[in-house]
Amino acid sequence: MSPRAYAIMHRMHHAYTDTEKDPHSPSFSSNIFKMMWRTKNIYSGIVKGTYPVEERFIKNLPEWPLFDKWANSIVSKGLWVTLYLAFFIVFATSPWLYLLLPIVILMGAFHGALINWFAHKYGYINFKLKNTSHNLVFVDLLMLGESYHNNHHKHPSSINFGTRWHEIDPVYPIILFLKWLRIIRVAKLQVVPVTL
Ligand SMILES: [Zn+2]
Ligand SMILES: [Zn+2]
Repeated sequence: MSPRAYAIMHRMHHAYTDTEKDPHSPSFSSNIFKMMWRTKNIYSGIVKGTYPVEERFIKNLPEWPLFDKWANSIVSKGLWVTLYLAFFIVFATSPWLYLLLPIVILMGAFHGALINWFAHKYGYINFKLKNTSHNLVFVDLLMLGESYHNNHHKHPSSINFGTRWHEIDPVYPIILFLKWLRIIRVAKLQVVPVTL
């Protein structure tokens, strides 16, 4: 997928949470698949330049047209599917395991949809906000910290999504490690201390 288009959609989600301009709000779709379809159409519109994007959503966003074109191309998608298939051929110990292959292939799209659908419907709240964001689970290892969604809406710039002692964000130390290796730069290091 094009990281640029995804970043624009994510900024729209924060600016227009739970409204009709939110690219993936469960309040405006009757089921998760309809929401995914709506998100897909907005995403394609941004990539093709047919969806009007407000100036503020592209501010400071790096433009890598060649990378975006490659990331969105059928060749790169085909290459990923081939790599996943090769992994299964090498490591699968039973033919039944191939039933998991479609899930692996579509995991990127589903992962986003799972968070945006369920974490705007169910879970608990640490911060009272003017939106429906919830923390989906008490300990999140499967979604790699992303399901602490109420925390994320409260502190969108924090690289640690956890705010309570049991809210372990497994990606937080990885970000710090990559920063230490100087592979990534953190634009604004905002870390919310564990307070609750
Ligand atoms: Zn959200
Ligand atoms: Zn966000």
